[in-house]
Amino acid sequence: MAKVTIDASLCTGCGLCASVCPEVFEVGDDNLAYVKNESGSCDLNDVASQCPVEAIKVE
Ligand code: SF4
Repeated sequence: MAKVTIDASLCTGCGLCASVCPEVFEVGDDNLAYVKNESGSCDLNDVASQCPVEAIKVE
């Protein structure tokens, strides 16, 4: 299974990842995105490619 991580030093909290794939990502009260669940039906590589600051890494 793919492992997805978010570089908090890059994340702007724009919310795009949580909007595209709410099963996996959420934006916390601190305005940073978190991985809440590593499995979901969305294409993680596609979500990562949409992050404007390339903060999402999929291994
Ligand atoms: S799309 Fe990128 S910058 Fe925006 S909230 Fe998600 S990880 Fe952060």
